Amino acid sequence: MIENFRRLYGSADGLRIWRAPGRVNLIGEHTDYNLGFVLPLALDLAAYVAAAPSRDGRLHIRSEHRAELFECPAGEIAALEPRRQWTDYPLGVARELVRAGFPIQPANLLIRSTVPEGSGLSSSAALEVSSALAFLNGRTLEPLVLARLCQRAEREFAGMPCGIMDQYIAVYGRAGSAVEIDCRSLEHRLVALPAGIAFLAVNTMVKHALAASAYQERVAECAAAVERIRTRLPRVESLRDVSPAQLASVAPLLSGVAARRARHVVTENARVAAFVDASARGDLGRMGRLLVESHHSLRDDYQVSCPELDFLVDAALAVDGVFGARMTGGGFGGCTVTMLRPGAIPQFGERIARGYARRFHVTPAIYPCRPSAGAGEVKNCETIPSAV
Ligand code: ADP
Ligand code: MG
Repeated sequence: MIENFRRLYGSADGLRIWRAPGRVNLIGEHTDYNLGFVLPLALDLAAYVAAAPSRDGRLHIRSEHRAELFECPAGEIAALEPRRQWTDYPLGVARELVRAGFPIQPANLLIRSTVPEGSGLSSSAALEVSSALAFLNGRTLEPLVLARLCQRAEREFAGMPCGIMDQYIAVYGRAGSAVEIDCRSLEHRLVALPAGIAFLAVNTMVKHALAASAYQERVAECAAAVERIRTRLPRVESLRDVSPAQLASVAPLLSGVAARRARHVVTENARVAAFVDASARGDLGRMGRLLVESHHSLRDDYQVSCPELDFLVDAALAVDGVFGARMTGGGFGGCTVTMLRPGAIPQFGERIARGYARRFHVTPAIYPCRPSAGAGEVKNCETIPSAV
C-alpha cells in the first residue's frame, strides 16, 4: 500500500496509516434508529487510509477501488456540496471536522478496504471513521464524539438517515467480544460469546435497487407509528419506549403496516436482551432460535428480506452443526450471519456455495466473523491485507 502511495503521489514522507473495521450485527436489526439495542462485533475486515502532508496546499483523495481522483484546496473543503458518489463519505467527514473546530490540513490520502461494499458489513462507516482519523492526523477526539460526527456525515452529507450502530462499533469494537449498544444512552457493554461456536457472514452478492429508498421508508414508517402511539401514550418518544403489552394496547390505533413495523422493532429489542442472556448461560440452542425469529420478523413484519437472503437462511438451517441464521444489515441483499459449530464450517461452506450457485448463478463469498478491535493507527509491525 505504501509503494502504491509513493507511485501515486511521488513521496511517502510523513506517511501514517489509519484503520477502521467493518462489522457484522448479530441481532438487533433496524433498531438503532429507533433508539433501541443492537449487538454487533467489529470484523477483521477494515478500511485503511494512508495519509501524508501534501506540499501544494491541496487535499487529494484516491481509493484503490476507484479510477477517479478527488482534489481541492484544503481550505475550501467545508464549502463543497455532496456529489452523490463515494467521495461524499470522506468529504462529509471533513466538513463535520471543520465545523467541530478541526481544520483540514493539505494532505494526500489513499484508501484501501477489505470490507465488501454495499454488503451490509458497513464499508461506509469503516471509510468514514478511518478517514476521520486520517484527517485528524493524531489530533484527538473523544470516541463518542468521533462516532457521532461520522454518523452526522453519513446522514447529512451522504443523505442516508442511518442510526449510530455502524460508526459506534467501528470506534468501540473490541477483540474477542461482541458489543451490546444502547442506542439511546449511547452506552455499551462487552458481551463475551460462548466457546464452541463460530459466526460466518455469507454474501448474497446482490444489492437490490430499492435498498436505500426502502430504508428511508422504514425510518419514516417508524416515526409515523410513534406519532400515532403518542396520541394514547404521550411519554413514548421512540419505538424503544414501547413494551410488548403497550403495543397490544395501542394496536387499534395503527394501520396494518404500521403495526407490523412496530411489532418488529418491539420484539427485536426484546430478542437482543434474550440473546445476550442466553449467551451468558451458554444456551446455544436458544441463541440460534432467536436468530431465526429475528429473520422471520424482518422478512414478514419489517419486509426487508429478499429471495436470496431467505434462501441462504433456509439452506444454512439444513446443515448439521448450524444453530441459527438471519439476514444482517439493512436488507434487500447483502449478507446473512450464521451461528454454527466450528467443526461444521468446511461442510457448511461447500453446501451453501454449491446450493446458492445452482439457484442464483453466483458464488457467495463467505467471511469468518472474528471479533476485532475498533479504529486506530496501524502500527509498524501490522500487515495490511491486499485489497479485495
Ligand atoms: P455498506 O456500508 O453496507 O457497505 P453502504 O451503501 O452504506 O453499504 O456504503 C457503501 C458505499 O460506501 C459504496 O457505494 C461507496 O460509495 C462507499 N465505499 C465503501 N468502501 C469504499 C472504498 N474502499 N472506496 C470507495 N468508496 C467506498
Ligand atoms: Mg453503510
